[in-house]
Amino acid sequence: MVDSEFQPKSGNESPRFAMPSTFMRLPSRESAKGLDVAIVGVPLDIGTSNRSGTRNGPREIRDESRLLRPVNLTTLQAPFDCLKIADVGDVPINTYDLRKSIDLIDGFHARIAKQGAAPLTLGGDHTISYPIVRALSLLHGQLALVHVDAHTDCNDAMFGEAMTHGTWVRRAVEERLIDPRRTAQIGIRGTTYTGPDCTYGEEQGFTMLHAEDCWHRSISRDMDRIRSIIGEGPAYLSFDIDGIDPAFAPGTGTPEPGGLTSMQGIEIVRGCRGLNLVGADIVEVSPPWDSGRITSLLAATIAFEILCALPGVEAA
Ligand code: MN
Ligand code: MN
Repeated sequence: MVDSEFQPKSGNESPRFAMPSTFMRLPSRESAKGLDVAIVGVPLDIGTSNRSGTRNGPREIRDESRLLRPVNLTTLQAPFDCLKIADVGDVPINTYDLRKSIDLIDGFHARIAKQGAAPLTLGGDHTISYPIVRALSLLHGQLALVHVDAHTDCNDAMFGEAMTHGTWVRRAVEERLIDPRRTAQIGIRGTTYTGPDCTYGEEQGFTMLHAEDCWHRSISRDMDRIRSIIGEGPAYLSFDIDGIDPAFAPGTGTPEPGGLTSMQGIEIVRGCRGLNLVGADIVEVSPPWDSGRITSLLAATIAFEILCALPGVEAA
């Protein structure tokens, strides 16, 4: 049992609308030393191609996360009893320079990983997953990837730029940061500029679960299959909130109708339990486009479910 120092402040001890906004009102720490999991924010939106606003994502997700309680009512898991988890704040990105920001994000996550903690990162646009995966693969070796998204993020370039929120997966494959045969993309849909953007993943050997494959049903069985494909090696979960339908998650920059439900989003994360997750992120939450903060609350809920899916978190 972990020290009470690492428990979120209970809503019965201090009202939920009180206190600074750390994730779930966990303790704030300067470094990840001694932690099992570090919650990180990356307030970046200069890699987006459409609507911006994800620079406000980490703040709003933390703010809505105060509504969560520490025990998962369904699985009876209590992640804060099993792991030392604290909020290490935000990466001080350079908002005028995407490439410099990428190096800052890489360095910040490399430090966390070397200190022995798994980062759970709140974005931020999807560009941030590239430096995180780069940092983690250097330490752990090539990663498996579970990628929830409406988009493949496999464009070769956008507006002539190689590094954007829509190109990061292709870069990660090219640089062998991720293993394409142990990569699954879930929730892909909508429209694109050219056909080949959409076939890149198949050609590389990705397991694809398009949104239409998921309509009107539970996808727990598909997660069983994805888990068996990925196996035991180090794995990363990247959850773009636009994988979820805009009816549930309107607060995002590139919404696509016909997406996954909140329920399927939770099924995906619970289906990652058993993987050797060495890090995860929830990205593309854009509060200025949100409605009643439902997107931030869903992102906070997904982040909590990710904590429950980590190795070492048992049911109470
Ligand atoms: Mn994405
Ligand atoms: Mn997307």
